[in-house]
Amino acid sequence: MKVTQHIKRAKGKTLFSFEILPPRKGENVNGIFEAIDPLMEFNPPFIDVTYHREEYIYKQRENGLLEKVTTRKRPGTVGICSAIMNKYGVDAVPHIICGGFSKEETENALIDLDFLGIDNVLVLRGDAIKSEGKFVPDPHGHAYAVELMQQVLDLNKGKYLHEEIESGATNFSIGVAGYPEKHFEAPSLKSDMKYLKQKIDLGAEYVVTQMFFDNKKYFDFVDKCREAGINVPIIPGLKPITTLNHSTILPSIFHVDLPDDLVDALDKCKNNNDVKEVGVEWCIQQSKELMAAKVPCLHYYTMSKSSVIKRIASELF
Ligand code: FAD
Repeated sequence: MKVTQHIKRAKGKTLFSFEILPPRKGENVNGIFEAIDPLMEFNPPFIDVTYHREEYIYKQRENGLLEKVTTRKRPGTVGICSAIMNKYGVDAVPHIICGGFSKEETENALIDLDFLGIDNVLVLRGDAIKSEGKFVPDPHGHAYAVELMQQVLDLNKGKYLHEEIESGATNFSIGVAGYPEKHFEAPSLKSDMKYLKQKIDLGAEYVVTQMFFDNKKYFDFVDKCREAGINVPIIPGLKPITTLNHSTILPSIFHVDLPDDLVDALDKCKNNNDVKEVGVEWCIQQSKELMAAKVPCLHYYTMSKSSVIKRIASELF
């Protein structure tokens, strides 16, 4: 079922959902099930599975020189989605990205997802390769999420890259990303919003936000979206802070600010256990306020570790 149908069915009740990462290459799928199992009691109607582009690693050759090798450290998004649907009977929402994929590879992945009965895709650009500062599109791929979206929409009309097959139309519902604190490359929030609106006008049915730690940022973002004519559900994404280094790592990776009160509370923590208590309590309070504002769904970034998310969800669902 489509994410938007789940939201409609809930009739104003806030849903619970979360995102997991495919296991690192060589790790067992059971690790993913162990992360999901404790969260199933909160009835997530859908679970997102991230997609990861390639990375460069350096291998030492016999002659001592280093060889640059391309590898994907977390493959398996499509398989994990299928495993989730089989095991739990809930919808899996694969993320699909432009970075590192040709249009042909994307088409083949979408065909697989369609065969598996997957109804939703979260369409994203993806980030730069870790060791590179700037996003570079695949020479045969897409530069922006909106272009990838167009490919999915074409497939939804039976328009494949090289053929038109009327009976072969897919029926993916498309979600896209939103940034309450602006995407870091956008010159202004207004500019970022213009491109978000472009995706909605083209047919994206809902937005999932980047994590934020100050609900005001989310509420302001929703207001601005509504003013701009973006009227689809805007699902807030939340992540609890659980380690001391999160307070510097998260702002640098995700380009988000922490509110002063949270920073002050974290500064008083002596160890990661203290931090976890502060982070979990903060996330519970954020979630409660968002729920009171009747957001369609609370979507948690689990990083495939569910114990803290279970603590938070237990207070809310
Ligand atoms: P886009 O919409 O392409 O926007 C990128 C930038 O270009 C923005 O600054 C935008 O303002 C601008 N822009 C957009 N369209 C145009 C245009 N037509 N012309 C000029 N400028 C334009 N990354 C992963 O690799 N895998 C994941 O699974 C993943 N999951 C995510 C889930 C969520 C909920 C979020 C919020 C992010 C996720 N990301 C993931 C990270 C995401 O890929 C990055 O934030 C990426 O840098 C931007 O993706 P986007 O889809 O917002 O890009």
